[in-house]
Order: sequence, then C-alpha cells, then structure tokens
Amino acid sequence: MRNLLVTGGAGFIGSNFVHYMLGKYDDYRIVVYDKLTYAGNLANLAPVANDPRFAFVQGDICDIDAVRQAVRSYNIDTIVNFAAETHVDRSIMAPDAVVRTNVNGTWALLEVAREFQLERFHQISTDEVYGAIPAPRRSREGDPLEPRSPYSASKAGAEHLVYAYYITYGVPMTITRGSNNIGPYHYPEKAVPLFTTNAIDNLPLPIYGDGLQVRDYQYVLDHCEAIDLVLHKGQIGEVYNVGTEVETPNIEMARKILDILGKPYSLIQHVTDRAGHDRRYALDCSKLRALGWRSRHTFDEALEKTVRWFVENEAWWRPIKSGEYLEYYRRQYVER
Ligand code: NAD
Repeated sequence: MRNLLVTGGAGFIGSNFVHYMLGKYDDYRIVVYDKLTYAGNLANLAPVANDPRFAFVQGDICDIDAVRQAVRSYNIDTIVNFAAETHVDRSIMAPDAVVRTNVNGTWALLEVAREFQLERFHQISTDEVYGAIPAPRRSREGDPLEPRSPYSASKAGAEHLVYAYYITYGVPMTITRGSNNIGPYHYPEKAVPLFTTNAIDNLPLPIYGDGLQVRDYQYVLDHCEAIDLVLHKGQIGEVYNVGTEVETPNIEMARKILDILGKPYSLIQHVTDRAGHDRRYALDCSKLRALGWRSRHTFDEALEKTVRWFVENEAWWRPIKSGEYLEYYRRQYVER
C-alpha cells in the first residue's frame, strides 16, 4: 500500500486524512480525486499543495473512464472513498444527486478496483446507516442496516455494493462506520461549524425541534487515525465502527459552543425539526478497540479545539458563508 487515491479528499474529513497520512508516512504518495462540488475546497489542501508526494485530479467518481485514467496514471494500489454528497438536509431537498454520487459513484470506483486488481478498497461510511437507535442499545457491526434518510440510505446502498464486490469478485475491502466528526475545514452547513460561526457573529443558532437528538462527536483526526489503523491492521471483508461512545444532545453541544465563546444562551433559536430526524445514534466500538484503538480527544477537548480553529481561521470560512451558501441557508432556516 503506497499509492493512495483519496476520493473526496478536498472535503472536510478527506483533507484531514491527507494531512494525517502525509505527516505520518514518508513513502506514501497521495492522489486526491475530487469533483470540487460546493463542499470541495482546494484551500483545505493548501498546506500540502507543494509536497512532491501529493497530486490533485479534478474529476467525478461517476465518470468511470476518468477514474480509470487516474488509477492507471498514478499506479494506484489503494482507493479510500470519502467522496459523497454528505448533507442530510440537502439530501432531503434533492435526493437525486445523493443517489448518483453515493451509489453510482461507489459502483464506478469498485469496477475500477476490480479491473486493476487493487490491493484495497476502503469505504468511508457512517453510523447513520443503522438508523435511529433507542437507548440504551448500541449498534454493533453485525446489526441490520435501517437507514431512514435519503443520505443514509444511499450510504447503506454503497456499503452493500462494496460487500457484494468482495463476495462476488474478491475485491479486497474494508469499511469504517464513523460517528459525527468535528474539526478544521468542516463546511459550515453542518451543526458544529454552523453554530460556531453564527455565534462568532452574534447570529441565532438554529436548533432542530427540542434539540434532544443525541450524537457521538469525535475529533476528525481521531477518525483519520482509526481509518489508518483499519487500512493496516483491519481484516479484509470486515466493517468497523468508529466513535467515542460518548453521547451528547445537540442542545448541550450548542450551549458548550456558546460557553467557549462567552456568548449568551439566548442566541439559541428552536426551529422546525428536520423531517424524519433520527433521535439517537450510538455505536459500540469494541471491535475497533480490539485492534488497539483509543480515541485521543474527549468531547470537550475536541469541541474546544474546533471552536478555536474557527475563531482563528475566519479567512477560511467567511468566503464560504456567502453566495450559494446564503441561498441554501435562506431556504433551510428562514423560509420554512
Ligand atoms: P464533505 O461534504 O466535506 O466532502 C465531500 C467531498 O466529496 C467534497 O470534496 C466533494 O467535492 C467531493 N465529491 C462530492 N461528490 C463527488 C463526486 N461525484 N465525485 C468526486 N468527488 C465528489 O464530506 P465529509 O464530511 O468530509 O465526509 C466524507 C465522507 O465521510 C463521506 O463519505 C461521508 O458520508 C462520511 N462520513 C462523514 C461524517 C461526518 O461527520 N462528516 C461522519 C461519518 C462518515
């Protein structure tokens, strides 16, 4: 495993993964393959842009010929697939793009992995594929997938294809199902960066419904470390949950952000809940722990680091929160 094609590497987790891997392995070459949708941003890769071990190819994962060409040109042996339409709210507004990229795109990557007999295909999946989990249950890797949003259904569909390509064609695969990530380069439509950047500007923090939806927030670099571990020590054909096993209601997360920034709780504004909003996700991560993994950041440490990054990097997020973003924000929070 030396030449990695990191699809979706210009997005939030993918770019953090690229920084992590180039920082850790001197002899790895990383080729980011990314369509640069609204969520893709070359600024996320600026710190490695001049590294001779790094290359960038702009392309759509659904374009199988372009994927083939990238794999051939760079002598790729491993695909790590982060590329996806990732926002649940947008998936509710426009499910077609989600199905196309997350399902058809994953299929195209698998076909190329099969054709070129790659050493590994690693799929980045999500805890959302299990659906809403009533307390005190925690999802284990063998549990049924019961996704309830177009986004999570498309991610579950992608996973099924990945597994089918392993069973049917012997494509050597692994899958990680990560919980919610927070950290640098997080697109400010997602809750933590949205609340943080709004709070910095004294704007309301729009909380869906009663705000008691429970999530497991992990620091993005902890997730990247887990992916690296599964790539090197995970069993072919296996799925691994990745999270902290700490549960936080959304409203508590919003209050903590306001505490860190010294802003009043009166900025919290309850808005109409998301359709079909999953009440709780909760992972059992013992299978990953058996590989030797421990999350390095507590939730409080992860949140503090994340909020500070947004305070110190206004030049990164201010340009994003204009243009297309404003149009989306108006439709999602103002006109509902
Ligand atoms: P993101 O939205 O920040 O980035 C997605 C990237 O994929 C962008 O750079 C975008 O340009 C690219 N992309 C989209 N469609 C593409 C296409 N057709 N072809 C090529 N590139 C395309 O997403 P993220 O939050 O970094 O999530 C990355 C992966 O991790 C996704 O697969 C997501 O489902 C999964 N995941 C995310 C979280 C989370 O909390 N963010 C948690 C668990 C799993």
